[in-house]
Amino acid sequence: MTVYFENNSYKYETEAVLKLFRPLESFEFVFDNTPPAPAGDYLRVCVSDELSVFVSLGGRYEEKHSPLTDEKERELALCKMLFTVLSEITGIRPAWGCLTGIRPVKKVHALIDEGCGRDEVIKRLESTYFVSESRGGLAYDTAVTQRAAVDSLQKNSFSLYISVPFCPTRCSYCSFVSHSVQSKGARELIPKYVDMLCREIGELGEMLSDKNVFCDTVYIGGGTPTSLSAREIDRIMKKIAESIDISRIREYTVEAGRADTITAEKLRVIKDNGATRISVNPQTMQDSVLEAIGRRHTAAEAEEKFLLARKAGFDNINTDLIAGLPTDSLRGFEDTLERIIGLSPENITVHTLTVKRSSALFGKADEMREQFGNDSITAKMTDLSVKRLTAAGYSPYYLYRQKNTLGGLENVGWTKPGREGLYNIYIMDEAQNILACGAGGSTKLIDPSTGKIVRYFNYKYPYEYISRYEKMTEYKAKAEEFLRQKFS
Ligand code: SF4
Repeated sequence: MTVYFENNSYKYETEAVLKLFRPLESFEFVFDNTPPAPAGDYLRVCVSDELSVFVSLGGRYEEKHSPLTDEKERELALCKMLFTVLSEITGIRPAWGCLTGIRPVKKVHALIDEGCGRDEVIKRLESTYFVSESRGGLAYDTAVTQRAAVDSLQKNSFSLYISVPFCPTRCSYCSFVSHSVQSKGARELIPKYVDMLCREIGELGEMLSDKNVFCDTVYIGGGTPTSLSAREIDRIMKKIAESIDISRIREYTVEAGRADTITAEKLRVIKDNGATRISVNPQTMQDSVLEAIGRRHTAAEAEEKFLLARKAGFDNINTDLIAGLPTDSLRGFEDTLERIIGLSPENITVHTLTVKRSSALFGKADEMREQFGNDSITAKMTDLSVKRLTAAGYSPYYLYRQKNTLGGLENVGWTKPGREGLYNIYIMDEAQNILACGAGGSTKLIDPSTGKIVRYFNYKYPYEYISRYEKMTEYKAKAEEFLRQKFS
């Protein structure tokens, strides 16, 4: 589809709303006031003495106009017009309306601070952004569940994130930089990577030794950290304990992730080194779907490894699921949900499938059309997860949205009472300093007086991280200076 802009360049807003309706389509943007071709699909956004949109799509045509307002309100007015026109033409009504940001709960916190209750929050989200009642309620309930964790946060605290970007095989929907350990190159890289990671953790410890900050949570994520051997995991966790004061931490997570990497020995090492929370992520309990997405384990194996983690003494386990996976059905998703609820994990995270360009799945986009849109199977799956998890005693505690997610839907972390994953809340809320080590790690420091955030990024790929490690010293010096100025 070609998108024409006349006397404006509202590309970001226009594309964000269009993607809600046509998530896998690429758009061509024309800014030189060229009139659209007479036939075919197009969208025109015009600013003259009024704001107008003209849409021709699938043989249907609609247009809408509204008076010109000031610049900030105009963006919202445009999103609302586009949403209305596209809904009318396609018959699809995405559940989050024209709200396109990735953190809807932030808006809800602001409304709660203004004194709004549940009904008022739902009403305001509906009238301002066309958010459905169910999603307004979900955002409100999430804000309420996470309130105590947000309020308990201390400004001089930080979460430590350790990145292990290796996995046993690559899932078809994965867009992350993770390397499959099946390749000889990746296997050869791992020992060097662990050396460098330990070096970075040690240097971080030195940097923090004279700063007035303390470690609140630790998260070892990936990738699949348990792709490493028990010895390598032990080495990393010991390095953390010897370099950084973790005596005050409230949570220590290791994202074990894939069942095909979890062993009793690794679980023991993780537990002995102080982890309090672990993730065992089946994504689906349907064997045929697991096979379709390229995960080399069965649902029975995921269940077995979950129980093994319980046996190893983990009383706080998260399981990740994905709604909208290729070849999955509503019935299959329901069965997955029931089997996971039956295991009684403390946290269940329900993601909606996101199809990014860098994933293998992107090339098969055409086969997945029916999974899109508000009335799609995916939307029914997420609706079902809200109903079933609420009935099973879980509450939503963090929520975020990503670009290119089916139906513009959400990812939600659900928790049993009092077992919220703190790191997840803080990272989504952008409320806490994050100090990150490893490839792809992103350090985020928050000015305690102004709330302004500065970010520093490690090299993304393991081979760059190893070979160009020294080049990161420049930004690390800046991070240290920031900490010295703000937290001494
Ligand atoms: S386990 Fe996660 S990071 Fe690893 S390949 Fe699959 S989706 Fe990517």
